[in-house]
Amino acid sequence: MNDNAPHPLKLFNSLTRQMEEFVPVHPGEARVYTCGPTVYNYQHIGNMRAYIFADLLGRTLSWKGYKLTHIINITDVGHLTSDADAGDDKMEKAAAQSGKSAWDIAKYYTDAYWLDIDRLNIRQPAKWAIATDHVEEMIGFAKSIADKHCYELDSGLYFDVSTVPDYGRLAGAQSDDIEGRIDTVEGKRHPQDFAIWRKTPAGETRQMEWDSPWGKGAPGWHLECSQMSIKYLGETFDIHTGGIDHREIHHPNEIAQNQAHNCSEHSGANIWMHNNFLIDRAGKMSKSSGDFLRLQVLIDKGIHPLAYRLMCLQAHYRSELEFTWENLVAALTRLKRIVMGVERLLEKADGQTAPIDHPALLQLQDKFDAALSEDLNSSKCLPLLEELLTQKKLPADQRLGLLSDMDSVLGLQLSSLTRKQLRVRPASAAIDENAIEAKLDQRQKAKAEKDFATADAIRDELTAQGVDLMDGDPLRWDWKIEI
Ligand code: AMP
Ligand code: ZN
Repeated sequence: MNDNAPHPLKLFNSLTRQMEEFVPVHPGEARVYTCGPTVYNYQHIGNMRAYIFADLLGRTLSWKGYKLTHIINITDVGHLTSDADAGDDKMEKAAAQSGKSAWDIAKYYTDAYWLDIDRLNIRQPAKWAIATDHVEEMIGFAKSIADKHCYELDSGLYFDVSTVPDYGRLAGAQSDDIEGRIDTVEGKRHPQDFAIWRKTPAGETRQMEWDSPWGKGAPGWHLECSQMSIKYLGETFDIHTGGIDHREIHHPNEIAQNQAHNCSEHSGANIWMHNNFLIDRAGKMSKSSGDFLRLQVLIDKGIHPLAYRLMCLQAHYRSELEFTWENLVAALTRLKRIVMGVERLLEKADGQTAPIDHPALLQLQDKFDAALSEDLNSSKCLPLLEELLTQKKLPADQRLGLLSDMDSVLGLQLSSLTRKQLRVRPASAAIDENAIEAKLDQRQKAKAEKDFATADAIRDELTAQGVDLMDGDPLRWDWKIEI
């Protein structure tokens, strides 16, 4: 355990709707399962908020000294266009629309997702569990619960939710709303019953289909997560995460299957955690909106992806977060200030870190631990990091040590990120950085010669090309291209 992190970690459990102290199933270990992307399209930045949150959780557990096993799944089959039982498989639909194979689509969007994971400095999980690699085992799982908990219809094998105790406890107050969202399927015993195996309709062939005791078909989306989480983490593991939408259908269904499979009332995970949504009032978060907001759109506007990570960390994961370009640029500015402070500190400490024993720094570290231990309150951690950067009288090497300690949780790459990397450079800008720098050299020379007319003319010329100059910084780094 990390001796410098003595505050007990408290996490909000969606199942009990209260804060609970983290007590691992296996002493010294933390086993976490995160519902991953459905790879029929790019992930939007809202989806990426879910993984930034899961990464913050994983980093916190590691920082506190637990040996972390984190699994994230890749849903490349089974997720229908509704979260329940209606519509096509998202993958098959994307394949039909694009003329590519479902397998090629899955590969393309999985790679795109992994690139974004990397750009956001989200750590690699112990395993990316890919659904189509586990179909035989999913069939085995379904077989083990079929007799007692399922019934067969023409369209598939359905789970009877009345066979497990307390179905839908996780969804709680929301369950009335959900009922309206659940799709009616001819012959279902209860509206909430769900398909764990979907048969390929007679006369059709699907690109992704497997033989099973119930005929050719594909596993249900919920079955995937139950099977893969139990396989890699055990029948009872520590934490299961996902976006708040999963609290209503996907996770209650996983819980029902876990209970059936494990012959137990336990939900499978001790703590169920859900991040709230990133919302965008301009409607650009919807994947049906054409050029929806994905990380590449931010990058094309010239915004460094870690500014988006910081924007997420500024809010508590359980709060709704509104996306606006102003909020994003404000986060970028904050990140620039932090990076400037870190650059000065790196210089002062000559890049050397030292163990922390100064009482003021120990106190800061303790406050950081307290904030983090209060259900991952990253928004409270950030001002502590900023305070550390302003404590210029304290030993620089210890400050640098504490900074990298804090950053191992926040994941902002503070010891390598440079001010230059944070300049706003839209892909569409007509002028490149070297040309800007050359103009700035000319302008500085003109100013030195008191030729203010030329200096102003250069400024106007740059402004006409969309380059905004912030005067007054001797290092001249603070220019940006209007987005
Ligand atoms: P999907 O690819 O649709 O399966 O979603 C991937 C993850 O993103 C899931 O954990 C969702 O709950 C989560 N999610 C979806 N939309 C948002 C949003 N706007 N903000 C935050 N998380 C989201
Ligand atoms: Zn899942």
